[in-house]
Amino acid sequence: MSEIGRRAVVLGGSMAGVLAARVLAESYGEVLVVDRDTLLGVREPRRGAPHTVHAHGLHARGHLNMEELFPGITDELTADGVPTGDLGEMRWFFNARKILPARTGLVSVTAPRPVLEHHVRSRVAALPNVRFLEQHDVLGLTTTDDRERVVGVRVRSRATDAQPQELDADLVVDATGRGSRTPAWLAELGYQRPEEDRVKVGLAYTTRHYRLRPEMFDGVQSINPVASPAHPRGAFFGQVGRDVCILSLTGVLGDHPPTDPQGFLAFVRSLPVPDVYDAVRDAEALDDPVSFTFPASVRRRYERLTRMPDRLLVMGDAVCSFNPVYGQGMSVASIEALKLREHLRLGRPPQTGAFMADMSRVIDTPWDISAGGDLDFPGVQGRRTLQVRVGNAYMARVQYAATRDARVTDGFMRVAGLIDPPQALMRPSMVLRVLRHAPLRPAAPPATPALATPTADTAAPPAA
Ligand SMILES: Cc1cc2nc3c(=O)[nH]c(=O)nc-3n(C[C@H](O)[C@H](O)[C@H](O)COP(=O)(O)OP(=O)(O)OC[C@H]3O[C@@H](n4cnc5c(N)ncnc54)[C@H](O)[C@@H]3O)c2cc1C
Repeated sequence: MSEIGRRAVVLGGSMAGVLAARVLAESYGEVLVVDRDTLLGVREPRRGAPHTVHAHGLHARGHLNMEELFPGITDELTADGVPTGDLGEMRWFFNARKILPARTGLVSVTAPRPVLEHHVRSRVAALPNVRFLEQHDVLGLTTTDDRERVVGVRVRSRATDAQPQELDADLVVDATGRGSRTPAWLAELGYQRPEEDRVKVGLAYTTRHYRLRPEMFDGVQSINPVASPAHPRGAFFGQVGRDVCILSLTGVLGDHPPTDPQGFLAFVRSLPVPDVYDAVRDAEALDDPVSFTFPASVRRRYERLTRMPDRLLVMGDAVCSFNPVYGQGMSVASIEALKLREHLRLGRPPQTGAFMADMSRVIDTPWDISAGGDLDFPGVQGRRTLQVRVGNAYMARVQYAATRDARVTDGFMRVAGLIDPPQALMRPSMVLRVLRHAPLRPAAPPATPALATPTADTAAPPAA
């Protein structure tokens, strides 16, 4: 393909940044990825990406896109001990009910997130025209005098006494995540900031790793009691290596899973189903629990700005950070990267307005699924349109019907995995299946918490 620019600079070398770099390398002479952390060779969580300690499933759409961008990556991950399996064959609980497993043919990868990132980044770093500038803070944008076009970025090495330096760029892509400074940089340059949509979920993940024993999973790759309005405590418990498993507990609206070992185990015991507690109550913990708070899903509406400087794009969590329990972020970043490739294949630098409009179209469906789903929790603030209320009521029926009919599980997983749009669940044949089992929105069953008492070394102290 012909070169459309000399140098593209990507801000942030996490998942969205490296995926963007992968496609930019097809069209720019050089791609420079700037990050404040050391990245190359790193297989552990980093300071700049603390969320990567927690359970990260790469679901169907993300897996397909990764294979397209990095052929053979699934085999590489498998050789590195990363489990993969059918998304529909995990043990999923919705509203405290186990849905029937289904062979969907859709792959879910449950790598430790830093390990997945390491494999993806190594493939990108091996491209001859990609370079990583590590241990550098991005300070701001540089523009033409009239501020109409971005021409580079200001960065500073984290070495002591380092002076800021300017890097020229024919294109700048901001992939610095949720804390992106682009809104502030736009304001400094005299542009409007983007409006933000926020859905306050008051979520926290608390995570601990355990030594894997095969009987914990009874042949499944992961056990996931997903939070629902009636049973708002949830968990993702999955195999992430040959002898390691991860347990991420989720609590919403301020009900955060504790980080002390006894409190952590008590939270596990309070889950609406006993499966996870039974697996870990006498398991060997490999670390102390750590927590990550996620106050709100945030969507920045760049597509609504009437003006943005040319040669500046924003991608990944910097545009939209989704409630992570839906497992969408990395898949969306991969769809965005493929959309960027479409723009590059037009043979000219991407047009900022058109590109950000396309980002918004990519985000629409996953945002409707996750932000709309969150509004089913009565304590979450936000506008409950008719579409949201009807959608949530129908989704509860779908999840119930999936406990009786594996074809419904299949259809549901295709939507959750971002393969099919939610409208696929409204096809007449599917509606008939759903209504046969759930003519009304089913009431939530009571919890069936674990009965076994904690073992001596993990027991919670008696209440005062
Ligand atoms: C708890 C949790 C669980 C999740 N689980 C899933 C899941 O199961 N499945 C899924 O698909 N997604 C999941 N996600 C979402 C996923 O982590 C993100 O969507 C994904 O990481 C893409 O993020 P990003 O690359 O845009 O930003 P980030 O991962 O936040 O990376 C931003 C990068 O920019 C760098 N940076 C930031 N500011 C600067 C600066 N000023 N100078 C230099 N460098 C800078 C940082 O060091 C970092 O490397 C989860 C998120 C959370 C919080």
